Amino acid sequence: MSLGTLDNCPRCGTLFVRGVRDVCPKCYQEIEREYEKCSQYLRKRENRGANIQQVSEATGVSIKQITKFIKEGRISIANHPNMGYPCEGCGLLITTGHLCDLCAKELNREISLDNELKERLSAEEQRRRAEKTYRARTEKEN
Ligand SMILES: [Zn+2]
Ligand SMILES: [Zn+2]
Repeated sequence: MSLGTLDNCPRCGTLFVRGVRDVCPKCYQEIEREYEKCSQYLRKRENRGANIQQVSEATGVSIKQITKFIKEGRISIANHPNMGYPCEGCGLLITTGHLCDLCAKELNREISLDNELKERLSAEEQRRRAEKTYRARTEKEN
């Protein structure tokens, strides 16, 4: 990602100059409005125990966007214990990271299988790979 280049807004597709924000100014304002709605809703005492589904239904803000607010720390799970968001693997509600414990375990298993495979590669192959990444890295830095 480079600053000050023309890019399509990932939210609405409009061409805009990518700066500090990764969405266009119009979407940025909309997101702020959506955040206001969520935070106003959650500020009410009777909504303290609301879950993400209820907040989404009450405010019209997508679960995906609310998930972002939680991940960014704008909506505090400490204050709203039921505000879990869906695991990217299976949709189970979680409160940290991207995956639930089960999916994280599954992913780890895949990674260790992958490592096993890599270990089986000949030392020569590994050496060549390392050289390649090293070169690619120094080229990028220059
Ligand atoms: Zn946009
Ligand atoms: Zn999961």
